Amino acid sequence: MRPPGPAARAGVLPVAGRGDAVPEDTVVRDCLQQTPPRLPPWLGYDAVGSELFEQITELPTYYLTRVERALLEHHSPEIAELLACGRIAELGSGSAKKTRLLLESCVRLRETTYLPIDVDQSMLRSSGAALCSELDRLEVTGLWGRYEAGLDWLSTHPGEPLAVVFLGSSFGNATREERDSLLGEIARSLDPGESFLVSADLDKSREVLETCYNDPAGHSAFAGFRLNYLTQLNRRYGAGFVLDDFVPEACYNADTSTVEGRLRAQADRTVPVPGLGLTLRIPRGQFLNVGYSVKFDGRQLAREVGAHGFHLRAQWRDPEAQYGLFLFRRHET
Ligand code: SAH
Repeated sequence: MRPPGPAARAGVLPVAGRGDAVPEDTVVRDCLQQTPPRLPPWLGYDAVGSELFEQITELPTYYLTRVERALLEHHSPEIAELLACGRIAELGSGSAKKTRLLLESCVRLRETTYLPIDVDQSMLRSSGAALCSELDRLEVTGLWGRYEAGLDWLSTHPGEPLAVVFLGSSFGNATREERDSLLGEIARSLDPGESFLVSADLDKSREVLETCYNDPAGHSAFAGFRLNYLTQLNRRYGAGFVLDDFVPEACYNADTSTVEGRLRAQADRTVPVPGLGLTLRIPRGQFLNVGYSVKFDGRQLAREVGAHGFHLRAQWRDPEAQYGLFLFRRHET
């Protein structure tokens, strides 16, 4: 019998609403009521937001994607050997262009099922189709929903040995509290001996980071990406944001080693958000938070992840120690 063609090997499964994940609207309402108001990271990724993120990754000053790709180009065969798994789940897979390098090494060793978890269904469909047309011996089931729902699905669907990967330094988009909760869920989805591969941007100078997270002259990918969060609030919740009232920027906070994406109000504004039963009063000069990007120190990351039942098995950094890939193994509890 002929093996199934690419189209038959790529599918998407909605997983939203699984497990004890807090409902989306509750998360958005709680975040908007913080000081400063915060927009949860996943809210910005519809098809337009994902395309703008892809444009960010191509900016000449955005080193993260290029350095991570080079690390995966060099080390994927070794990583695939160490993962020794038949299933790879990925948190926030996006276009999965870099993951492809790892998957290519995995399918050389054995048939592999890839389980990308993402809130953007359009990306899950296009990346799954592209991967299956390029790689034989790969099956893709996209898990459409937030991380918690995808991890919950994995916990209740045992199968071949599993690895969870979290690329793009997206782990740093969560607060410490959120990271602890997510690590607990990742640990629950893995059996002892299984692996968690996470990438992290390493701490560096304010100058480099603020250059990286702001648009260089003549580009507008970051601005468009950040403003798209307001478009999402207007579309989903009937909010009354006028995009021109807010100026996108990014600032590095050295005390917390965090780059903060912001939208700064140009004038006093009262913005109704009827879908959430809220009215936001935003004085001139105040900002909305549109994303944290925490910068790590390798030892601190190993301690943080280690506290959830993992030990660091291997790590890879670029020659300038800008960025790292960290491979953890789940141990017996
Ligand atoms: N890993 C890719 C994409 C990074 S952008 C890369 O390295 O290029 C972050 C991706 O994670 C987006 O595709 C976004 O839709 C997804 N995402 C962000 N928060 C999420 C969440 N809480 N649950 C599921 N997907 C999420």
